[in-house]
Amino acid sequence: MRFSALALARNALTGHQRWQPQWRDAQPQADYDVVIVGGGGHGLATAYYLAKNHGVKRVAVLEKGWIGGGNTGRNTTIVRSNYYLPESAAFYDFSVKLYEKLSQELNYNIMFSQRGIITLAHSRHDEETLRRSFNAMRLNGVDCEWLEPDELFNRMPRYNRDSRYPIHAGLNQPRAGSARHDAVAWGYARGADALGVDIIQNCEVTGFLGGDGVVTGVRTSRGEIRAGKVCLSVAGHTSKVAAQAGLRLPITSYALQAFVSEPVKPVFDTVVLSPATGVYLSQTDKGELVIGGALDLYPSYAQRGNFHTLEGVVAGMLEMFPAFSRLRLMRQWAGIVDVVRDSSPIFGPCPVENLYLNCGFGTGGFKAIPAGGWTMAHTLATGEVHPLIKPFGLERFTTGRLVDEAAAAGIAH
Ligand SMILES: Cc1cc2nc3c(=O)[nH]c(=O)nc-3n(C[C@H](O)[C@H](O)[C@H](O)COP(=O)(O)OP(=O)(O)OC[C@H]3O[C@@H](n4cnc5c(N)ncnc54)[C@H](O)[C@@H]3O)c2cc1C
Repeated sequence: MRFSALALARNALTGHQRWQPQWRDAQPQADYDVVIVGGGGHGLATAYYLAKNHGVKRVAVLEKGWIGGGNTGRNTTIVRSNYYLPESAAFYDFSVKLYEKLSQELNYNIMFSQRGIITLAHSRHDEETLRRSFNAMRLNGVDCEWLEPDELFNRMPRYNRDSRYPIHAGLNQPRAGSARHDAVAWGYARGADALGVDIIQNCEVTGFLGGDGVVTGVRTSRGEIRAGKVCLSVAGHTSKVAAQAGLRLPITSYALQAFVSEPVKPVFDTVVLSPATGVYLSQTDKGELVIGGALDLYPSYAQRGNFHTLEGVVAGMLEMFPAFSRLRLMRQWAGIVDVVRDSSPIFGPCPVENLYLNCGFGTGGFKAIPAGGWTMAHTLATGEVHPLIKPFGLERFTTGRLVDEAAAAGIAH
């Protein structure tokens, strides 16, 4: 069923009783060409592009809970490509370009809103570092603009000019913004399902078939499934799942928190990120302020987050925007993120034959969902690693060719 103004009107007149389910409740089959573990944005996008771009349709996405219930449904929805190194800029900017057309491509409104992202410099040193990023972005062909304090106060009239974090300058990427995270997962799920992909929820992968360094399928809570290739897209749980195939990865898992305030009228029309305070915020279309900050500082699989991190983030925000002290926080949550030492993702094959990785995004993989899916689909379908993700292979941890983007996250990472 396609969404359109006509379909909306027709269903409104019939009491909204005739909408079809967005995807089938598929039952696991005995074997597939490709099994994708993890029904987050990356797994679903990979399945969609496998079917759409490469005609590979015997594909299953296995999700232990419900699709989009992992980090894809827990993030602060920022999409940007303001990276420093050319290989990162090329990959993330391709993703932003795919996001720009995604609503039309999927016939599903992902509410992509290009309201810009402003990174603030609060000191002379911050300013010099930011200018370096500005130059790098220009050299990488990524849109950016330099903002002086007066322009920033105009963009953010509620900023506290007497703050102990004075504004020296700001770097804006106008094409950056945010998208509705659930819609990204649901849109890709609906698109993949329509192309014949089986999306199987409540199906946990508990082990692998095969042995001697070769994977031939997976063991799941719903039985064994054989597969030509298996792709892990399980974000913060990659180390645990990969260990079942005998693979040890350079990943540490941490909780990353986010919070939303009660909804208010439009007060903030951009995304702002302050690396010095470790705070970033934006306002949703519903009116809530979405606030994020640094990682909890020790490894954990507890999906709750610590109070002192919340307190530090809120304190930083209120120093910059004291007016927001009147708002009540409505919700707080955390997701488990997969942090790699150079803060860049890990893509492609690994020493276990037929097993592929899409992980290591840490705090920033939502923006990468379309490009991650596109390039992994290419890699799985053709057996050739897509050129955009070649620099992000696992072998870089033995060759030493790291892609260090720790500073690009803008928050402790
Ligand atoms: C609080 C927070 C804020 C963030 N903010 C941003 C942001 O603003 N911008 C940005 O770009 N990124 C952000 N991120 C990071 C981003 O959310 C993730 O990098 C991205 O969603 C990863 O997508 P994924 O599909 O790989 O993983 P997920 O969406 O986590 O999907 C993985 C899925 O695998 C499933 N799974 C795990 N183990 C198994 C198993 N054994 N069997 C079957 N299924 C399994 C899980 O249930 C889960 O649904 C944030 C993350 C958090 C937690």
